[in-house]
Amino acid sequence: MKILIAEDDLVTRTILKKIVEEQGYETLEAQNGYEAWKIFQEEKDNIHIAFLDWLMPEMDGIELCRRIKKTTVGHYVYILFLKSKQGIENIVEGLEAGGDNYMTKPFSRKEIIARIGVAMRFINIEQQLKAANIKLNIMATTDSLTGLLNRRRLMECLRDEVFRAAREKNPCCLIMIDIDYFKKVNDTLGHTAGDNVLIETVDRIKAELRPYDIAGRYGGEEFLIGIPKADLETGKIVAERIRASISNKPFQIDGNKLDMTISLGITGTIPSGRSKKDMIHLIEEMIERADSALYKAKNAGRNRVIAYGE
Ligand code: GH3
Ligand code: MG
Ligand code: MG
Ligand code: MG
Repeated sequence: MKILIAEDDLVTRTILKKIVEEQGYETLEAQNGYEAWKIFQEEKDNIHIAFLDWLMPEMDGIELCRRIKKTTVGHYVYILFLKSKQGIENIVEGLEAGGDNYMTKPFSRKEIIARIGVAMRFINIEQQLKAANIKLNIMATTDSLTGLLNRRRLMECLRDEVFRAAREKNPCCLIMIDIDYFKKVNDTLGHTAGDNVLIETVDRIKAELRPYDIAGRYGGEEFLIGIPKADLETGKIVAERIRASISNKPFQIDGNKLDMTISLGITGTIPSGRSKKDMIHLIEEMIERADSALYKAKNAGRNRVIAYGE
């Protein structure tokens, strides 16, 4: 974390730099507003606090503040103005330009340290909020047991993919997966063992997918996989690979060796040429088709892939 000091007066700048560095922060110095702006653009990812002198050659503190605030940075940049004039208008203008605080020259060592303390409290709260938001977002969009997309997010992602496929005139496939005789695991080994089978199944499925494939938990032991840019033949190869990855090797669950299998139903489509209204129904239609193919796979003896209409 670096602190930018933009101040044209050498004495003020030197004192400020010394005290800030004594507090354990790295500083970046600029002698005028333009130089500070150039430094900011290069170092924006590291600068969290900026001391901006109000009156500087080339570019004044207010203009510099406006430019900093307009720049997209991944974190909050806390801005502290340094001013010698007393007028209330100046303060208001500075705060309106995005400044957070100000110090009136000459300032004491104690005040500088206290102002940095205020800035750090603000920065820490902002970082905690951001982390909490990321966590909330993950909780709202993923299934906590398997880490796959939850049903709501899954449907949003599939809808987005169908619209993209239509725009780009690409095909796409949808695979519905259901674990065979899963209830037996719960009944014989207990619910926790059942959960572990779900986790292992998902790990194996994910290992067969590409980063841009869409995978979600549709129901208890049912999963939906969207395969972008894949025609039915390609989708069938992926589905077959997933099926084999489950049946090829027994699951090791709580010291038990389990031979697990899955059944898969697949359907493909090229969504282009449809109206927007039609496309909204297309996802539901595809899910129904994949589900009916899956039903056929179950009836045909399980542990197999069946494509809709075949
Ligand atoms: P089939 O081959 O016909 O699919 O048989 P099945 O036993 O897999 O299917 P069924 O639909 O009869 O049973 C699914 C079971 O999955 C019932 C339900 O209790 C269980 N289940 C659903 N969600 C979870 C979960 O999160 N954890 C565990 N342990 N079990 C779950
Ligand atoms: Mg000045
Ligand atoms: Mg089921
Ligand atoms: Mg099942």
